[in-house]
Amino acid sequence: MGIQKGLEDTIVALATPQGVGAIGVIRVSGTKAIILVDEFFSGKNLDKVASHTVHFGRLQDREGFTLDEVLVTVFRHPASYTGEDSVEISCHGSSYILEKVLTLLIEGGARLAGPGEFTLRAFLNGKLDLSQAEAVADLIASENVTSHRMAMDQMRGGISKKIGGLRQQLLDFASLIELELDFSEEDVEFADRGQLKELLLTILHLVEELMASFKLGNVLKKGINTVIAGRPNAGKSTLLNALLEEERAIVSPIAGTTRDTIEELLQIEGIPFRIIDTAGIREAEDAIEQIGVERTMEKVRQSAVVIYVFDVIAMPPEQVREDIAALQQEGIPMLVVANKMDLNPYTLPEHYLEPDQEGVVWVALSALNGMNIAHLKNELVRQVTTGKGIMDTTLLSNARHLEALMSTRESLTAALRIMEDGISSDFMAIEIRHALNHLGEITGEVSTEDLLGNIFSNFCIGK
Ligand code: GDP
Repeated sequence: MGIQKGLEDTIVALATPQGVGAIGVIRVSGTKAIILVDEFFSGKNLDKVASHTVHFGRLQDREGFTLDEVLVTVFRHPASYTGEDSVEISCHGSSYILEKVLTLLIEGGARLAGPGEFTLRAFLNGKLDLSQAEAVADLIASENVTSHRMAMDQMRGGISKKIGGLRQQLLDFASLIELELDFSEEDVEFADRGQLKELLLTILHLVEELMASFKLGNVLKKGINTVIAGRPNAGKSTLLNALLEEERAIVSPIAGTTRDTIEELLQIEGIPFRIIDTAGIREAEDAIEQIGVERTMEKVRQSAVVIYVFDVIAMPPEQVREDIAALQQEGIPMLVVANKMDLNPYTLPEHYLEPDQEGVVWVALSALNGMNIAHLKNELVRQVTTGKGIMDTTLLSNARHLEALMSTRESLTAALRIMEDGISSDFMAIEIRHALNHLGEITGEVSTEDLLGNIFSNFCIGK
């Protein structure tokens, strides 16, 4: 099925999960949605009822046999999710009933919807732009406050507004340059070069800013990889438990964890941390080598923050310094946790750290009795947010958008170079058009069937 074809069809799908629930919702959308449901509905005449109204009645098959007592919600175009006439039927959640109702509607002339087809129609009917449609999928998949917030921002047009603003400015300039090209014999300049350069630089800067937010946005969506490393008996597992303590009830081990590491998802101030305890990595026989074993290092290199735990009673300072040196990776901040403070409260950082050691934060605590755990949590948050109000900014979290922005940057840079080299404006106009197209890919002003097929095939059926 071609992705843009079949807009005339009336589509139907189960909108709630497969299986038994208290209620199951069947969604119908298309020009015939209302009269189709009305054919099987005994209650009010749905063709006559107002939009956004709910009606109680019975669904009957052609023989007059009652399948279920249902609530039917009617939405008239264009004020519906898809922009078309739509009906939502709330049935009892028996899979038998739901299947029967679906069959009834399909025999009546509706077609089973493909993945994401309701949202695709919303996009094709101009109810949502492409990045907003993608946000709907993210919203459904969101599992924590941060990914939820980012999806919500994008669905409400956070990214669209930013991109739309850039695109409009660029479009205005592109038109001026193209106008110049029409008058090329007369050698006029409608578009002031100084202003154009400034504009291109401003847009380039904003594009780069959005690109930079991807790292954090993507990480926040998936959870920030955080490794707990340290020698055996340092207290890593005890620390992990202390961190998870209040959350125990709602966390569950992440599927796919390997046998030798434990991964747990921990939320601090709404930010998801994916905490990896390397306690299970016991390859090296020699305790001294333990810290540097390759698998621990592999985890460390993939992480955004490292928590290095040592036992203040058992560890001489020079060994701590060695461990820190072995674990430290450029650009990955490390929290040095002096554990078992309850046994020796007089442990001082200057005994263990080099003077002015960079990329290292000292936290003394007791994992066993919970002392200073809150401080460690604050430090973790501080490491990844560096004080920025991440909850208030638009963050890029979609790899497709990142790719489009990279191409935009390429075209803008090329346009700037052409301008500086004084090459003919034709070529500059072409690059600016390219940049406009790439920006348009994000919001869907520019789209192809392949692109749409790709995006919507990742949706669930019924959305
Ligand atoms: P791991 O091998 O690094 O995971 O270490 P564990 O978490 O298994 O801890 C090793 C031992 O140290 C256990 O007996 C813990 O109860 C103990 N321990 C951990 N943290 C503390 C602490 O803060 N104070 C005291 N006194 N003992 C601790």
